[in-house]
Amino acid sequence: MDGGVHYTLDCPVCGSTILIPEHRLAPVLASQVPRAKATELVGAVCGGCRHIRTYDVEVPGPNPPVGPVVALVQASDWDYVGWLPCEVRNCQSHLPLFAPLRRPISPEDWNQYVATWNWDDLVCPAGHKISQPPPETSEA
Ligand SMILES: [Zn+2]
Ligand SMILES: [Zn+2]
Repeated sequence: MDGGVHYTLDCPVCGSTILIPEHRLAPVLASQVPRAKATELVGAVCGGCRHIRTYDVEVPGPNPPVGPVVALVQASDWDYVGWLPCEVRNCQSHLPLFAPLRRPISPEDWNQYVATWNWDDLVCPAGHKISQPPPETSEA
């Protein structure tokens, strides 16, 4: 699937725009139990400075859609990577992670890529720090 609606997020560190494809995010959030209420949180890696942060993504309501979205002819480079679990034992929180990614990617390349990310600002929905990389991915 190419193009479609993307959520636009602004990296507060370098000002780059992060483009999360809606058609990849929606099924991920729909699978989340329990559903978050007014806001949806995602972890996203900046394509400019490689900071990984927690962002609020407003999910489109029944009508009309809300939130800053753009329609792109081609899909952005951001793709769903996996769930980031909170490291606090009793927290149970987790974030869906999106990163600029071109598949397929070998486990070696993946590990090198993840090693370039800056985790300083990533927190779970409850505010706990997350500094744990996701497992290597081969999921498409
Ligand atoms: Zn940035
Ligand atoms: Zn937590």
